[in-house]
Amino acid sequence: MSLTDREYMRFSRHIMLDECGESGQSTIKNAHVLIVGMGGLGCAAAQYLAAAGVGTLTLVDHDQIELSNLQRQILYTEKDIHSAKVEVAKIKLMAMNSHLNVKAVHQSVFNINLNMMLNNIDVVLDCTDNISARHFINQACVNTQTKLVSASAIQGQGQLISFDFSQHRSPCYQCLVPDKTQVESSCSSLGVFSPLLGVMGSLQAAEVVKLLLNQHQTLNQLLCFDSWKMEFKSISLKADLDCECCGE
Ligand SMILES: [Zn+2]
Repeated sequence: MSLTDREYMRFSRHIMLDECGESGQSTIKNAHVLIVGMGGLGCAAAQYLAAAGVGTLTLVDHDQIELSNLQRQILYTEKDIHSAKVEVAKIKLMAMNSHLNVKAVHQSVFNINLNMMLNNIDVVLDCTDNISARHFINQACVNTQTKLVSASAIQGQGQLISFDFSQHRSPCYQCLVPDKTQVESSCSSLGVFSPLLGVMGSLQAAEVVKLLLNQHQTLNQLLCFDSWKMEFKSISLKADLDCECCGE
C-alpha cells in the first residue's frame, strides 16, 4: 500500500530524510511489529512506533496495571489501575493514530504459539523483564529468522542489542547470556530509574525503524547506558559457535 495524501503530510519530516524518503515511509506503513511486554520499555517504544507510522502493532502482555507501575509506564494513568495493560495501551495508541492497527494479546508469551505468530512479523521487540522470557523469545526469532531488538533496564543501567537472524553467522541473545538459570534481578526487587525506561524504549523504537529501512549499522552491538554517569558504551558481539541456540 502506498501513502495517502494525508499520510504524505503527516510523515513529511520522515519523507525529507535521505534514509527514509517516500518508499521508506511506505515500508514502515506496511510493517507488522510485535512488542512483548507492555511495561516501561514497551510503553515508550510503542508510542514512538505508532507516531512513526508503523501500520500494525501486536502487543503481548498478561499483566494488569498497578499503582507502582505509574512511576515509569507512561501510557497508563490512575484510572487505568487493575485494567489489562494491552487493552489500555491499544486505546491510547489508536487515539494517537486512527489508522494504526493494534492487536492486543492479553496472555503470557509462554502461552502463545510464538513461532506461528512470527510468520507475519517483521521485527520483534523484547521488552520483558525476565531472563526465561528473553531466552524463549530469542529462540523463536532464531527459529524463524525474525529480526529482534532486545532491551533491559535495571536500577540506573540500560542495555540494548539488535539482531538480524537472516544474516549468516548472526550471534543471538544466548551467545551474550548463555546461562538460562542465572539468578534474576528485577525492577521489583532492585528498583529502576524512571526516565531510563524512556531512553531505552525510545532507542528500541529507533532500532526497529532503522531495521525496517535497511539501516543495519548497529546490528550485534551491545549498547550499555549508565544513567548516573550519562555514559554510553558499545561492545561488538560475535556468534558463539558452541551456542546451544544458534550454534551449528
Ligand atoms: Zn547464539
